[in-house]
Amino acid sequence: MMQITEQELLEKLKVNFGYDSFRLEQKAIIENIIAKKDTLVIMPTGGGKSICYQLPALFFEGITLVISPLIALMKDQVDSLKANGIPATFYNSSQSTEEQEAVFEAVINKRIKLLYVAPESLSLLQNILNQTYISCIAIDEAHCISAWGHDFRPSYKQLAFLKKSLPEVPIVALTATADKATQQDILEQLAVPNATQFISSFNRENIALEVRPANDRVQQIIKFINEKPNEAGIIYCLSRKATEQLANKLQQNNIEARAYHAGLSFEERSKTQEAFIKDDCEVICATIAFGMGIDKSNVRWVIHYNMPKNIEGYYQEIGRSGRDGLPAKALLFHSYADVIQLRQFIENTGNKEVQEAKLERMKQFAEATVCRRKILLSYFGELIEENCGNCDVCKNPPQFFDGTVIAQKGLSAIYRLEGKEAMGTVIDVLRGAKNTAVLDKNYDKLKTYGVGNDVSWRDWQHYLIQLTNQGYCQIAFHLNNSLQLTDFSTKVLFDGEKVQLTTPVEFQKEVKESVKEKRKKAIKDTLFERLRKLRYRIAQEEDIAAYLVFNDATLKEIERERPQSDEEFLAISGVGQRKLEVYGAEFMEEIKTFLNEKKKTKKDTTLETFKLYKEGLTVDEIAESRGLKPATIFSHLSKLYLEGKDVSLDEFIEADVLALVANAKKVLKNETALKPYFEFLGEKVPYEKIRVGLTILQRKR
Ligand code: ADP
Ligand code: ZN
Repeated sequence: MMQITEQELLEKLKVNFGYDSFRLEQKAIIENIIAKKDTLVIMPTGGGKSICYQLPALFFEGITLVISPLIALMKDQVDSLKANGIPATFYNSSQSTEEQEAVFEAVINKRIKLLYVAPESLSLLQNILNQTYISCIAIDEAHCISAWGHDFRPSYKQLAFLKKSLPEVPIVALTATADKATQQDILEQLAVPNATQFISSFNRENIALEVRPANDRVQQIIKFINEKPNEAGIIYCLSRKATEQLANKLQQNNIEARAYHAGLSFEERSKTQEAFIKDDCEVICATIAFGMGIDKSNVRWVIHYNMPKNIEGYYQEIGRSGRDGLPAKALLFHSYADVIQLRQFIENTGNKEVQEAKLERMKQFAEATVCRRKILLSYFGELIEENCGNCDVCKNPPQFFDGTVIAQKGLSAIYRLEGKEAMGTVIDVLRGAKNTAVLDKNYDKLKTYGVGNDVSWRDWQHYLIQLTNQGYCQIAFHLNNSLQLTDFSTKVLFDGEKVQLTTPVEFQKEVKESVKEKRKKAIKDTLFERLRKLRYRIAQEEDIAAYLVFNDATLKEIERERPQSDEEFLAISGVGQRKLEVYGAEFMEEIKTFLNEKKKTKKDTTLETFKLYKEGLTVDEIAESRGLKPATIFSHLSKLYLEGKDVSLDEFIEADVLALVANAKKVLKNETALKPYFEFLGEKVPYEKIRVGLTILQRKR
């Protein structure tokens, strides 16, 4: 058996992947695989599953065969490996005979370390499917083998033969699907019942969770996106039509958005996906069909325009953001109408009870008044003690107030309407609306008509939903969603029970113009922007996804550290040997240019002050005309003075004050900070004068 030290593992991790340390259980998993043991890896999306089999592959004599369900994903992974200088390729039925021959040749001559293949194509690999060539088999998205999973693929069923025909080769099954039944099933189906299991936490702390009521959601989305220029995101919608309508509206608001759904042609879909991966298009409005094959690490946010059917789906979709570990945002719009629509879908499907229960859990998550992450993780059987601090409930705990009177009014209206009307009409009656739905049925004659006209429509909706959640009324989904009383209602209506309600949260709308302005202003000329543009250009030239050059986390670190030598560049997390060699010079050049330009503008700004000074303007006048603070102008003048320019600083300080500063300088032993002088001089000499005095004394020396 191979003996590999931790040092060797870390070295390969740095040289080939550019990382300095392992995440979560990566190290233990890798050691298990190198010891040739079967392994089950359950890790959330973005957790870092790929390295778990890619790193061991570098230690094995033969190849690591990677079975992956999607061709799009394969190409991406192979590109990523190549960008790191690791020889890899894929095999599929769309390749020509020559290409396929070349793959075989590369395997036989040991010229590649990893070979990606879809399960459908496995049978075509018979010539090389033996233990001479294959050292390890990784099965990605392993839940596809189980009918219990949410994404069963019949082609995965045949994978059971792998263990039988290659008993010595370790099998690594990887998935982000958590539930127990699926896990057990995977092991059985793959015939590796004794695999070591590594189950990581599902907590993705970097994703901030937020739920908002769906009112004006388009406006809310526009505002949300405008506050995040240059950040990529996905908006999930329930229907194809909704994706197109939303994309259109966003385009009308100068946001480059595209729709993606199963109704588009294959070419259109690949084009959109490409554009998104390559950072050409930042916003995708998609049905759930989008994302599965996408391995883009810099998706910064995910919005659910509609409520998802269940928590599994929701969790998987938000998991597509922030895979690089940087802060990301998940925003869910909660609408009562969506819940009704989802119920109707479920009505016509198979296992109705299970799906209804799942939808109910989703709804509870959306309406929670306690830490949302707790609810999310507990769904996957993971309990956390502390509140997360990174969800809207934690950040903005709901304010409760005595809502007894509101509850009494609401429930009386439901009572007077005999439980026959849905929420909309109940609110209309409460608010004394004069529309036909109300007048035709003579509801304006009811006792409760208009008793709630001091509360807005939206707030009534918020309160009635809460009353439903607390069990004081219920929605009869089988009777046109009419609102009805429950056994609890009488406690409020007749027994004087007190009801606590939460205050609705306000989201202000913003005027279109100013938002546009903001967006323009927000795209500043920062080093990050420069590096991002350079990355984009390189990605275009190499025809690969931008984040394969460097992901956002790496780019941020380059911005922060501003490396100027190979050594410094290699020290950045995400920079391995090959990336240093291929991209290092260009990125360091960009940093140098940026820094030089900044220096130059600094110089320019002092010269501009000098020009005005020569024209005879006072310090205050210069400050005003340049939109700067007088203190800044003083610092410019001091600099010019030290450079030997014709600036008479003496006129800004009286001789006796200068003498005081000189004395202070002696006592304070040439201290350079200003504050000690200010204090020493009894806080009587203003900072500008101290600065001027010190400058004069400095030049005298
Ligand atoms: P998964 O397949 O589990 O969804 P990936 O393998 O795509 O996750 O990894 C997600 C991101 O995390 C990638 O950008 C990857 O390069 C990065 N990553 C993985 N392991 C590490 C590590 N040890 N240190 C830093 N970044 C890592
Ligand atoms: Zn929380």
